[in-house]
Formats: sequence, C-alpha cells, structure tokens
Amino acid sequence: MSEGAVKKEERRRFQAIKGTRDLLPPETALWNRVEQTAHEVFGTFGYGEIRLPIFEPTDLFARSIGLDTDVVSKEMYSFPDPLDRYERAAQILSTPSKIAGYFGMDQQQRANAVQKELETLPAAEWVTLRPEATASVCRAYIEHNMQQGPQPVKLYYIGPMFRRERPQKGRYRQFYQIGAEILGGTDAPAIDAEVIEMVMTFFERLELQGVQLDVNSIGCRECRPKYVEKLRAELVKVKDKLGADSQRRIETNPLRVLDSKLEHEQPIIEKLPRIADHLCEDCKAHYAAVKKELQLRGVEYQENWRLVRGLDYYMRTTFEITAKGLGSQNAVCGGGRYDGLVELLGGPPTKGIGFAIGEDRLILSLQESGKGAAAQGRDVYIAWMGENARATAVRAAKSLRNAGFSVELPPVEQKFGKALGQADKLGARFALILGDNEVASGEWTLKTLATGEQGKFTEMKLLEFLQTEK
Ligand code: ATP
Ligand code: MG
Repeated sequence: MSEGAVKKEERRRFQAIKGTRDLLPPETALWNRVEQTAHEVFGTFGYGEIRLPIFEPTDLFARSIGLDTDVVSKEMYSFPDPLDRYERAAQILSTPSKIAGYFGMDQQQRANAVQKELETLPAAEWVTLRPEATASVCRAYIEHNMQQGPQPVKLYYIGPMFRRERPQKGRYRQFYQIGAEILGGTDAPAIDAEVIEMVMTFFERLELQGVQLDVNSIGCRECRPKYVEKLRAELVKVKDKLGADSQRRIETNPLRVLDSKLEHEQPIIEKLPRIADHLCEDCKAHYAAVKKELQLRGVEYQENWRLVRGLDYYMRTTFEITAKGLGSQNAVCGGGRYDGLVELLGGPPTKGIGFAIGEDRLILSLQESGKGAAAQGRDVYIAWMGENARATAVRAAKSLRNAGFSVELPPVEQKFGKALGQADKLGARFALILGDNEVASGEWTLKTLATGEQGKFTEMKLLEFLQTEK
C-alpha cells in the first residue's frame, strides 16, 4: 500500500450497515415508553420476561420455521462457528452411544478412539442470528423442563431480530420485536382470545391509531392437508394466469399463494376454495368459540380467510394486526397457535400460542399519528456565576437529581445571558440562578423560562415548589 492509500484508509468514515440503524435520543424515550408499557401490561396478564440468546443453531430455525418460507430460504444471517478441539472432544465423550464403547479401554486407548472420532466430526457448527424468537422460547421451555412446573407457562420477550430483506420504510435487517408465548396446559379458546386481548390492551394503552385485527383459522393436521390438496388442484387449473412466485408455490406451499399482493392475481384468488368451508368439526368448533370469547372481551375483529402467516408451524387460530401510517408495511403484529412446535423440537406434546409485534413499525405509526412522546427537555438548568456559587451549584444539582429532576449543570462558568440561551436550547423548564448574592443570602432565584417569572426560594422551599410543578 502506498502512503497515500494508508492515509485514505485511516480516514475511512464508517456507516451503519445497510438495513441497520442507530436509535437516538429523543426518539429512544419513546422506545423506552413503549417497552415500559409492555412490561406493565403483560405483567398484569401474568407473563414473565424471558431473555434469550441472539444466536442459535441454524437447525433450530430451519426445522421450526420451515424450509420453504422466505425467512429460512433467503433471509437468515448464518455463519459457521468453528468448534475448538476441546468442545469437539467433549461432544464425543458426552454422546451416550459412544460412552458404552469406552468401558474396558485404558486411558491411551480411549484417547486414540476420541482422536479418531475427532477427525470424522465437522469442524464447525452453523449458527444463525435469530430471525424471530418463538423457536428459541420453545427451545428454552424444553431445555429448562418448564413442562414440569405449573401450566401454562406465560413468557414475553423484547429484542432485536435479523432478516436479510430489502430495506425500506418499516422493513429493516435488524429490527425489534415484542412478543409473548403461552405454552403448555390446554388449547381452550379463551386462551387464544386472552392473548389477543392482551395485545389489543397494549395498543390501546399506547393510543395506537387505526388498529385493525384480522383473524382466521388455518385448520389442523387433520383438515389442513386435505384443504391444501383442494387448493393445489384449483391452482393447477389457473397456473398460467399466475406470477412466477405463485406458480412455484403451487408445488412447495400453496397456502402462501393466498398471501399474494400481486394486483392481477387478486380476482383469481377470490374464487379459490376457502379454508373455513373445509375445517374439520373440532377446528370449526374451536374457531367459533375463539370468536365468541373475543366478543365476550369486547375485542373487535374482522375475519380474513386469506390470512395464512408466513411460518410453517402455525395451526388453527392465526391473527394479524395492522395500524395507520405505515404504507404497505402496515402489519404491526402477527401471531397464531402452534400446538406441534415443542414436540417438533424434541419436547413433549405441548399446546402453544403467541404473537410478535414489530416494534419499529409500532413506533413509526405512533410518530405518524402524533402519539410519539414529546421530546423531554431538562427540568432545571443551573446558571451559576462565580467560584463562590460553584459548591452550592454542585450541591443543588445533587439534591434535585436525587428528588428525580433532570438537571443540567454547566461544567464551566458562563455569562448570565449565555446560560439562559443554553437553557432555552435544551428545552429546560426552569433556570436556577446562583450568584454571589444567592449564596450569601441563602435565597435562590428560580426563573420559569416560558413566562419569564422569577421567584426567590430557600433550598427547602425550592424543592417543595418544584414537586408541585412536576
Ligand atoms: P411481513 O409480511 O411484513 O414481512 P412477516 O409475516 O414476515 O411480516 P412476522 O414474522 O410475523 O412478520 O413478524 C411479526 C412482525 O414483525 C410483523 O408483523 C412486523 O411488524 C415485524 N417485522 C417482520 N419483519 C420485519 C422487518 N424486516 N423489519 C421490521 N419489522 C418487521
Ligand atoms: Mg417477512
């Protein structure tokens, strides 16, 4: 490298990777308010928070989400994570079928046997940045034997997910979800309804605008395959009129054709057989009862027979919630029942239902409709002048902060006019003026910046006054 090139390299300005972004103040105050509300509302429904790893074995997602989904086939961030010799040897030594073979060997023979095994093992394990968290929650449920405690287990999570999608408004490669899962116990329709009621309560508390809830039932292992065959047969007849994606899905996943947004496919899809007419008796009864339970809770919904959801593990109840101000990325929450998932991942047969809210989109919608929190300025800006006032200013800042006020204490002395200008820029409500006079008399000056009003207070009285203004 020439010297010039080195310099240029040194001066490289880094930017956040495409599809990722920094969340900055004051917007992060809104994120915190949303998350705090989730903690509160979900807590009132008896859910506890689970914190999960950001990466998991690739297989966990491939197996649960399904190979012919967009997520697994093209959106996952996966990479080989090299296993070191120690880990690989430990893997061998902990394989029950292997252990039996080691009995009767001396140490040297055992070491040789392990060495030979080591050479046949893959050198790395594939891991994936989580594209969603339901599979991880189920993995944790199994790993920690949660089925042995009281059922059902109600968990929620908040955190980043990763999908390699084309970035646009409301669609990012690192995005955030707030989700909940209820595992174990029964599949009583009241559970489905209460999970949905909880999301709607959360949205109501945030004053999310233009909320619309769509529900559907996509049947079970008994009735869905039969419906899918009917659907496939009908799709084959109109194949030539469909786009390339839908044509491929006739083979791989016909249900996903119903999800198509292509304009010219809409009239064709409208005429396809509808799953509601093909549900088995049990699924029909379950769906009817879920709707009744929703009515009982005063939750407004609309039935949408085309709502199939993008992940393979869903069955029976599925739902999606849309909100205002999001353009074509208007889904803020998706969810559904997934009774077979825990078993598919090696656990006992377990009922399950859950949802995931797209936090980025939720925030966007709140902002677009003016429900985003106003920028929080400082409560008090301390305008101190003269070395004498310095110690008093430090003490005042400490006691005001301890009382819960947000305080700006300038690190160096400023002229009075400049200090007030600074206070204004920061959106402070009050300026506390501390000069030689105030320190000498013990009477501090407080200026209300919006009105210009000024008053004199002792330290005690000042705190009392500010408390009443909070
Ligand atoms: P979409 O149809 O919009 O791609 P999805 O069906 O892939 O959504 P889910 O897997 O159900 O989405 O995730 C639940 C929610 O997470 C979505 O309703 C959405 O609000 C949010 N979400 C999904 N992918 C993204 C993304 N790339 N960026 C931002 N939010 C997302
Ligand atoms: Mg998607």
